Amino acid sequence: MQTLEEVLERYEAVIGLEVHTELTTLETKMFCGCKLEFGAEPNTHTCPVCLGLPGALPVPNKAAIESIVLAGLATNCDIEKHSMFYRKNYMYPDMAKNFQTTQGPVAFCMRGHLDLEVGGAAAKERYGIAGASAGEAFENITVTEDGYKAHIGITRIHMEEDAGKMVHIGGEEGRIAGATHSLVDYNRAGTPLIELVTEPDLRTPEEARLFMQKLRQIYLTLGISDCSMEEGSLRCDGNVSLRRRGTTQLGTKTELKNINSFKSLHDGLLYEIRRQAQVLDEGGVIYQETRHWDPSAKRTIVMRVKETADDYRLFPEPDLAPYDLSDEFIEHVRAKLPELPDQKAARFQEAFGLSAYDAQHLVEHRATAAFFEACMAEAGADGAAKLAKPVANLVINDVTAWLNADPEASLEDSPLTPARAVELVGLVDATTISSKQGKEVFAAVLDEDADPKAIVEARGMEQVSDTGAIEAVVDAVLAENPDKVEQYKGGKTGLIGFFVGQCMKQMAGKGNPQLINQLLEQKLA
Ligand code: ADP
Ligand code: MG
Ligand code: ZN
Repeated sequence: MQTLEEVLERYEAVIGLEVHTELTTLETKMFCGCKLEFGAEPNTHTCPVCLGLPGALPVPNKAAIESIVLAGLATNCDIEKHSMFYRKNYMYPDMAKNFQTTQGPVAFCMRGHLDLEVGGAAAKERYGIAGASAGEAFENITVTEDGYKAHIGITRIHMEEDAGKMVHIGGEEGRIAGATHSLVDYNRAGTPLIELVTEPDLRTPEEARLFMQKLRQIYLTLGISDCSMEEGSLRCDGNVSLRRRGTTQLGTKTELKNINSFKSLHDGLLYEIRRQAQVLDEGGVIYQETRHWDPSAKRTIVMRVKETADDYRLFPEPDLAPYDLSDEFIEHVRAKLPELPDQKAARFQEAFGLSAYDAQHLVEHRATAAFFEACMAEAGADGAAKLAKPVANLVINDVTAWLNADPEASLEDSPLTPARAVELVGLVDATTISSKQGKEVFAAVLDEDADPKAIVEARGMEQVSDTGAIEAVVDAVLAENPDKVEQYKGGKTGLIGFFVGQCMKQMAGKGNPQLINQLLEQKLA
């Protein structure tokens, strides 16, 4: 198979996502009063409604409608005041009612969009970016200093309910193939679920991954779901097709189902693009089918050929009245909108003079954004202006690396308090310690649960920035190495490293490296 880059020179990849999110932070199910609880004893949270017993009548969960309206407002959707529920009919043991209650052509939220900042290595997947200059706009993107900004349309977000959970016994890895029997747990049946569908506006696997990450951040900020891909409260299907560059008609798509990590979404789409290109290049055709990405085998396999909408016999739900959302209700929900990650990033840029890149990275996780803000509050107005950039660096680099390396780690109850972070950054800023020593102190704060100043004192780390003291050492080193001085003056300027090293050695690593460099260059000139 060809590489993604080779394929994208000739074909344009077209990607659309369908994202299912369980509203796990709600108390109860979508159409009954059963409690929502992940991991409870099987079939302990059920009732006639979610078991689909005859005569049981559904009552919609108002808090769930609030959640979906919040999601719509946060993703720039129009909120439809008039919409209704439909029955999507199918027979499978995980759905005791034999139909799923979902929405029809009009959903609560329609016609939204999200803008993606694609930067660094992620931007390289997009065809036509290399060589384009900042400000240039083509297709759905605008080129930036660091990559590009892409405008991704959202078709709709509709409300539906989850099915029960099947557990297959006796087969391999819980798969149905080879199983002797299956069990079903209806605790999940009727869990409020929102499905967001994007326009086919994504063009690379990286864009798809970034879209999912951004959406997850937004939902977490709204507090409508715990968005756990491992536990399945956030799931996504990736639809992808190819078309020859320069043509506009959409190709036949395949759908990757039930992707449960950002990496699988990226890698599965990447594989599928390369596979489709190979089929098309060999003169074959792409069948509209559902495929499964197998991360360990690193390939996709056919699950089933797509059923058409007709098979579901979608019709209006007779037991639920059509919805009329009032302006008051929508405004009441709008008033609850928290500051969203993009808004927070803009505020960080504005208030603290950070770059777009730094601000974007800080808001990627709520914990790091909150920590940065706490540091700025701790630093006070003057300190914040001076230390914003180095504090942002500390958070983006050291703190993030530490959090990534240890999944158990949490900023909230770590020894690194905002006050200590500001103190540490202040020590480096005042050249009391070098930035290299700063890393050592950072690790020591976490290890020893001590203040940076105390650590620096206890280890005698204060950097020597006294020009007189350094000059004496520099003079001594130069006097001891007349041959090297000769060579340096003859053009071997790389020897500067040797001189710095010797000075540092004499000063037990405590000399201010900038000052040493400066003095050496002066004296060797
Ligand atoms: P289906 O009825 O097969 O579910 P939809 O029209 O509902 O298809 O679209 C599902 C998702 O697939 C949407 O995100 C949409 O943007 C995307 N999509 C539709 N057609 C294509 C295509 N030809 N190539 C890639 N993605 C597509
Ligand atoms: Mg679909
Ligand atoms: Zn119930």
